[in-house]
Amino acid sequence: MNKFDVIIIGSGLGGLLCGYILCKEGLNVCILEKHNQPGGNLQTFSRHGHQFETGVHYIGALGPNQTLSRYWNYFGLMNKLSLQQLDMDGFDRIAFGDEEFSFAQGFENFSDQLMQHFPGEKAALNKFIRTIHEVISAFPLYNLELPVDHREHHYTTQSIYEFLNKLSQTDQKSKGKNRKSKIPLSSVLAGNNYLYGGSSVSPLHVASLINHSFISGAYRIIGGSDQVSKALVQSITAQGGTVNTKREVSSIRHMQQNFFITTTDGDNYLSKLAISDIHPAQTLAMMPPEMVRSAYQKRIVSLKNTTSSFIVYLTIKPGTFPYLNFNYYYHVTANPWDESESSDALWPKMYLISTGCHMQNQKFAETVTILTYMRYDEVAAWENTTVGKRGPGYIDFKARKAKALLKLVSKKFPGLLNCIDKMEISTPLTYRDYTGTAEGSLYGIQKSFHEPLLTTVLPKTKIPNFYFTGQNTNLHGVLGVTIGSVVTCGEILGLEYLMKKIQHG
Ligand SMILES: Cc1cc2nc3c(=O)[nH]c(=O)nc-3n(C[C@H](O)[C@H](O)[C@H](O)COP(=O)(O)OP(=O)(O)OC[C@H]3O[C@@H](n4cnc5c(N)ncnc54)[C@H](O)[C@@H]3O)c2cc1C
Repeated sequence: MNKFDVIIIGSGLGGLLCGYILCKEGLNVCILEKHNQPGGNLQTFSRHGHQFETGVHYIGALGPNQTLSRYWNYFGLMNKLSLQQLDMDGFDRIAFGDEEFSFAQGFENFSDQLMQHFPGEKAALNKFIRTIHEVISAFPLYNLELPVDHREHHYTTQSIYEFLNKLSQTDQKSKGKNRKSKIPLSSVLAGNNYLYGGSSVSPLHVASLINHSFISGAYRIIGGSDQVSKALVQSITAQGGTVNTKREVSSIRHMQQNFFITTTDGDNYLSKLAISDIHPAQTLAMMPPEMVRSAYQKRIVSLKNTTSSFIVYLTIKPGTFPYLNFNYYYHVTANPWDESESSDALWPKMYLISTGCHMQNQKFAETVTILTYMRYDEVAAWENTTVGKRGPGYIDFKARKAKALLKLVSKKFPGLLNCIDKMEISTPLTYRDYTGTAEGSLYGIQKSFHEPLLTTVLPKTKIPNFYFTGQNTNLHGVLGVTIGSVVTCGEILGLEYLMKKIQHG
């Protein structure tokens, strides 16, 4: 029996950050990870001598004194990472057919860039920016301050879709006559909604917190996001913690105030406290029925997940395709809200193209990643198969889909096809099997403005000393998961106590 103070299930960002905090507080921590590489979505993988990102293409609020860099100072990360800041005047380029718009860093710059296309929309842009700031101030943890009231409810119960559609009253009154563009401002502002799974139930606060972080400062990690997980594992082990890979947790029991955690290879672990960084539904499925109230179990199991993705990873012939110091979001129609559910015949309705960053001032791309949505039911026919053994039908399916996606991308990037050296493809099943996310979901549980409380999983559970962390608790994304880990550990150590330590680095 391996005995620890705390066992953490899953070594995604949330699990590692909780491990770091609790080790620093002198607890004997063990993290159990089912894969051979820690990090979950922070993992990178190599194909044909090139490194690709699994699930982090850019990170917000990492500039000097910005929210994430302040948190990551405490985690000892900032002096270990090399960063590439994306283009100031367009970290995200948003295209609808032939029209292109830039999202700039810095709120004034953001507004100025869009004003070039929407000269009559100053009031709407001001309102968009003002609202983002209001949301941030209702979530004090995004400013390293302690929550004092429940102002956040005002924003968790509003829809970003409805907010944007109502934003531009002048545009509606003038029926589009006072803009230079064929595309309404509301669509453009939703142009990067892939970042939150672009659903009509997406709450205003999710979009605002994410947009705030990227407009404040948008960065890539040079050499890959796995540097974050490697640095955290190093710090955890240096402080006496344990990170065990190739240990898939299969059962969690609670007896005499101890957790008994078993892995598929038959190892047993015992702890007083346990934290799960994996999907709550998968966590509860590992517990005996008497451990969980049936109403709670039913609620968690019934929650919908964000949609999944289809991704093409390209290695590029040297010196043939430029490194893009921005992300490029392309939309087929002016409506970015129905893309995640598009049917086979109309697929794909959008894509995001991003080049890997391997050095400072990179001129040419070594790798290109193209992401789009894919519903899980498209691959459900192969759901009982495992990696590399899904059969010829699945290989044909992937090839057909990749061809359709590359055909669309080639309209905007006509030279790209000739620059491709090799290609890899992932589907929702790949994500399900590599990162352990339910149905390969992009960001875990779908938050809904209709039911903000029901779709929010609290870190503290009714099972004494059992906690959740990771993207299914606070918010998905690197910043959301970082703050979520502080909330989870705040439940254990006291949030005020922990925040003081973080504020002082
Ligand atoms: C395609 C894609 C692109 C993204 N792009 C960005 C981006 O550009 N910027 C950004 O900020 N965010 C992005 N995200 C979101 C971000 O990557 C995630 O929200 C975040 O990394 C999730 O961290 P987590 O702690 O919840 O754990 P996860 O990353 O989900 O990790 C969970 C870990 O638990 C392990 N595990 C599962 N089951 C078991 C078990 N039974 N026993 C032991 N271990 C287990 C898994 O193997 C995994 O390592 C992206 C996500 C995806 C999928």
